[in-house]
Amino acid sequence: MGTQLASTLAICTILFTITTLTPPGSSSPPEPPVKCTSHNTNCTVTNSYGNFTSDRSICRAGSVAYPATEAELISVVANGTRARRKMKVTTRFSHSMPKLVCPDGTDGLLISTKKLDRILEIDPVGLTATVQSGVLTGQLYDALARAGLALAHTPYLRALTVGGMISTHAHGSTFMAKGGAPSDYVVGVTIVSPGKKGEGYVKVRQLTEEDEELDAARVSLGVLGVISKITLKVEPLFKRSISFRKRSDTDLAHRAISFGRKHEFADISWYPYQHRAVYRNDDRAPLQVPGDGAYDFFPMRRALSSSSISSRATEEKIEAKEDAAKRCALAKDVLPLYYNSAYGFTNNGAYCRESVDCLFLLMKFNL
Ligand SMILES: Cc1cc2nc3c(=O)[nH]c(=O)nc-3n(C[C@H](O)[C@H](O)[C@H](O)COP(=O)(O)OP(=O)(O)OC[C@H]3O[C@@H](n4cnc5c(N)ncnc54)[C@H](O)[C@@H]3O)c2cc1C
Repeated sequence: MGTQLASTLAICTILFTITTLTPPGSSSPPEPPVKCTSHNTNCTVTNSYGNFTSDRSICRAGSVAYPATEAELISVVANGTRARRKMKVTTRFSHSMPKLVCPDGTDGLLISTKKLDRILEIDPVGLTATVQSGVLTGQLYDALARAGLALAHTPYLRALTVGGMISTHAHGSTFMAKGGAPSDYVVGVTIVSPGKKGEGYVKVRQLTEEDEELDAARVSLGVLGVISKITLKVEPLFKRSISFRKRSDTDLAHRAISFGRKHEFADISWYPYQHRAVYRNDDRAPLQVPGDGAYDFFPMRRALSSSSISSRATEEKIEAKEDAAKRCALAKDVLPLYYNSAYGFTNNGAYCRESVDCLFLLMKFNL
């Protein structure tokens, strides 16, 4: 719980000073992860950071295809299989840090879901939503909220694709129900995979909860084929009541399980060096309860590229000098900074601290 958040803390300290001075409207989204020198051929692929974490490299690929319909996708996979090309699925922003999308060699074919971006059906009676796999999470949350519905458990980012989110089992935080990963709420997928010659080099499987292959398809890291369409179970829209409490970490191991069982969306950020843990009391609340919550976590706000470059340079300087003391000193500032701004959660404009409960509408996510 909360480990990803905690691991970004040190990096974000410097970023904060600069981003808070940055006018929010003056930045642009990350560059597309795939770039080609001639029309969709001779390409490179990376992620939203511009390089992969393992070795800060990028990968090469022979070409990229952007199918916009399932029929186009089927044709791309069939042609790639017939030509014996290695295929990998890439997405609009590609947020994964490891080299999952690299096709291994310069002839590989990238299949992007960027244009598979349509919400196909929202069923308020059957409580399901069916989307093409390149739909962004924020796009889905907003469409669901307009229909009075929500995905109960979600990762933090609004710019993941539904296909990428389920393929990596990306998650929020809960012990309850089926757990915090939307992939566990998938009730149907259509997946397009390489086929034999007699099958026209392509196989299209429509899997439902009746098919045991659904379990393999829903967290498949792109290795079983390209997911074209996904149906997720959804719920009536609700609010969340959120507040934070800082404590010593001496009883963390003992407390973590019972805390997780007590609050539906419980989250703990642990600061071992400071012997502190921040507990997020986070529970479901009825929609009628008054309160206008918003989530606006400053390290996830837009920032000028020049700011990011400059903070990265500062980080690298500290890293090159192996200056552990400096790193620790910076990390020390992070806890009060984040805690006092309630990790970006506000209610009617006020931060959700110990004394203020935030009533927070999923639709108001503001990343
Ligand atoms: C700042 C930041 C915050 C994050 N926060 C969280 C968090 O709170 N919780 C969490 O769990 N994770 C988090 N992550 C990780 C993120 O959720 C995952 O990396 C997620 O998979 C990224 O989705 P994407 O759409 O960008 O997919 P990509 O990174 O582009 O793809 C991920 C994998 O899925 C495959 N894939 C994508 N689409 C399809 C498809 N249609 N068919 C078949 N395979 C496909 C790709 O080939 C690749 O192997 C975070 C990442 C970042 C950068």
